[in-house]
Amino acid sequence: MHNQKIKFIVDVMLGRTARWLRLFGYDTVYESDTNDDGLLFQTLIQRKILLTRDRKLAQCAGSAAYLVRANSLWEQLREIISEFAIEPKIVLVRCPVCNGNIVQVEKSNVFDKVPEYTYLTHTKFWQCRNCGKIYWHGSHLNLADKDIAKYLVDRKGDSDGN
Ligand SMILES: [Zn+2]
Repeated sequence: MHNQKIKFIVDVMLGRTARWLRLFGYDTVYESDTNDDGLLFQTLIQRKILLTRDRKLAQCAGSAAYLVRANSLWEQLREIISEFAIEPKIVLVRCPVCNGNIVQVEKSNVFDKVPEYTYLTHTKFWQCRNCGKIYWHGSHLNLADKDIAKYLVDRKGDSDGN
C-alpha cells in the first residue's frame, strides 16, 4: 500500500537512498550543503520525516526523525521500505535527480531532446518540470527494475502468486 503523502528529508549520508525514494514516488529532499539546523528547520516547519544516520540529530528532531541503522545502500532501503510500508516500485512522479515533479509529455515535444533511436522506439515520455530531464521506460529504468527485484523485493512471502 502506497502512502505517498509522507515527505522525507534526508541527511548528507543518505543521498543515494534519496534517489531511490524519489523513484518510488516520494517527495524526498536532499541537499548536500544543508547543515543540521537547516535539516531540523525544514523537518519541523514542513512536516517532513527526517531520515538520518546521526543519533544526535535524530534525538533533536524527536518523533519527526527516523534513525537509519543499516550501513549499506540496499540494507538502508530495505529498512526504510519496511518501516514506512513503501512499495519498492518505480512511479514516475518525482525526479530522482532533483525531486521536481515529473509529468508525462507529448512525444513530439521531446523530438530534439532524446537520442533518435530512443525517440523511434518509445511512445511515452516524461519530463521533470524543475530540471527538464526527460525519462522513458528504457535502459536506466530497466536497470533500476532489476536492482529492485534483486535487492528489495522480499521473495520469502511470495504471497501474491508471482
Ligand atoms: Zn529534475
